[in-house]
Amino acid sequence: MSSDPFGPGRSQQQGAPRRRGLFGNVRWWILIAFAVYAAVSWFGSKETDPYTGADAHYGATPEEEVQLGAQAFQQVVGDANAQGELLPPDSPQSQAVSQIARRLIDKVPQVSADLAAMHGVAAPTSHQGFEWSAAVIDSEEANAFCLPGGKIAVYTGLLPITQNTDALAVVMGHEIAHALLRHGSQRMAQQKLVQMGQMAAGVSGIDPQVMSAIGAGVQYGVILPYGRSHESQADEVGLMLAAAACYNPEASVPLWERMSSLGGGQRPPEFASTHPDPANRIQHLQSLMPQAKQFYQKYCPQGRAAGAP
Ligand SMILES: [Zn+2]
Repeated sequence: MSSDPFGPGRSQQQGAPRRRGLFGNVRWWILIAFAVYAAVSWFGSKETDPYTGADAHYGATPEEEVQLGAQAFQQVVGDANAQGELLPPDSPQSQAVSQIARRLIDKVPQVSADLAAMHGVAAPTSHQGFEWSAAVIDSEEANAFCLPGGKIAVYTGLLPITQNTDALAVVMGHEIAHALLRHGSQRMAQQKLVQMGQMAAGVSGIDPQVMSAIGAGVQYGVILPYGRSHESQADEVGLMLAAAACYNPEASVPLWERMSSLGGGQRPPEFASTHPDPANRIQHLQSLMPQAKQFYQKYCPQGRAAGAP
């Protein structure tokens, strides 16, 4: 299509020739007004993420996040319970997961403060409002998550892949890091922006074909890379947390090797969609190892044996 993508459709064009130049066209004004509004509100809401020093935009307050996370968790746990898939707290799997969760959560304040200090930012306080809890769900699904506000779930299908306590701690650290980094809230901010863009495009009467091309561009050029950068951030913060809780950070490399060797259908959905190329991920983890070992040495002076709880 070589015609003006924002112009009227062909049939209309024949009947009603253009009356005005580019800036006389109200559609352009709508899009320009949207772009200015979006830019002002987006850059006006820019904050610095204390865990990574990266720019961040949040779509909800920490209090709202805790509430949303608790609601979603109640739903997941309720459904699992109704289907008899919620493991009792005294089951060996629940005990193991709870113990790892406790040790990781225990180090959240120190690791948060250390990372913020490294980036010259005030220590984050949002984790203080977290309502932590952990559940284990009996399912073939190899998955785990931590919802905003600290609601952790581990699916038993993950355990044959993690194979040991250190690797399970690395996965749980990664998931907890997503919640600490407020990635859900950051995705909400991005979705709001995309929705505003869609609304502006709808009002301006943009050609639907052009609209879907732009949509695909946004998906591959913005949303997926954004997801991948969140994965790298969670790998980084999660590894420091696991090391500070005296788990062996080196367990992360064979873990992700096992994870990436899983077939597409078996691969955990959270890990498959936006996750970086496995080779890049392992390289990234290896580059983080010296820092992780510093955390380990700082918080585990006795040099707790790898794997020992
Ligand atoms: Zn992740």
